[in-house]
Amino acid sequence: MSVIATTSEAWWEAISTLNTDCHALRARNDILIATLPLVARNDTLQGVNPSMIKIIYSKKCSEYGQMGHPESPVRVTGTYDYLLKKNWEFVNPAGCRTQDILRAHTRSLLDEVKSGGFNDPDTPDYNGIYEYAVLSAGAACMAGDGCFNEPHFSLMRPPGHHATRSRLGGFCYFNNIAISVLKLLSEKDIGRAAILDIDCHHGNGTQDIFLGDKRALFVSLHQVPLYPGTGHRSQDNCLNFPLSPGTDEKMYMSVLDTAIGKIREFGPEVLAVSAGFDTYRGDPLTQMNLEKTTYRKIGEHISELNLPRYAVLEGGYSPDLPECIYNFLVGFGG
Ligand SMILES: [Zn+2]
Repeated sequence: MSVIATTSEAWWEAISTLNTDCHALRARNDILIATLPLVARNDTLQGVNPSMIKIIYSKKCSEYGQMGHPESPVRVTGTYDYLLKKNWEFVNPAGCRTQDILRAHTRSLLDEVKSGGFNDPDTPDYNGIYEYAVLSAGAACMAGDGCFNEPHFSLMRPPGHHATRSRLGGFCYFNNIAISVLKLLSEKDIGRAAILDIDCHHGNGTQDIFLGDKRALFVSLHQVPLYPGTGHRSQDNCLNFPLSPGTDEKMYMSVLDTAIGKIREFGPEVLAVSAGFDTYRGDPLTQMNLEKTTYRKIGEHISELNLPRYAVLEGGYSPDLPECIYNFLVGFGG
């Protein structure tokens, strides 16, 4: 049986008539979705990507881990399952190239991750971590390259924003967001890029890589005091907004509004978001007080900049991470 829907109402009527799972239907090509963007704008219509946002994911990134480590595989597998149940779709990443890594990092860091043997309790020398880190950076690059068509989100690990030019740390090996932005600045006709870091921890690695680079503006909202102990004040092209433990949605959104105003003033051609969800009130590593629903508001506010945009997963360690990410994506898709 085949149904062609030309309006969102007709599409949903068709789904309910068929009384079956719409993802399976789409997979069997029984329904031609002619009006996805229209469907997307109806808040009651959960079950399809609420916009044309593309989510990049590979199960490979859940193949490594260590018992008791908060940066665990279930963070991404749980989110993947959650989004899959809502019939969202995914695309597979490819690893980035060595030359992409070397725009952001020293050769010695690349060799260190590749050869192993480093000793950082937070950032273990997992078997095969170089390949996983290359794949996560490749997903960020794919998100950056593709965002001029529609917003993208990289649902991958390891995260990246604590990796400096020459040092790994804080669960991060290569700085995914930096690698992707430097690729855009180098290979596309892009003169200015903005990076917004909403992880609860300061993106010290990203700041280290972009400090003084006039092509980029780095803006970070983060809890102070907290690991890694940086980001207390702004420096040059790196604007830091330190927030107190206990910061709630009202305060956060007010500061975010100021931060977004700075991005608007800078006039970037693309926006890259380091999307951490450890500002959530239930996060075990931090003391901020945002609700699950706050992430939708954050995503919406960012999308109002109306820029080509993509986001890359950083932190977020509570069991509610899938819902926080889902809410963010609903808003971020615009
Ligand atoms: Zn974090």
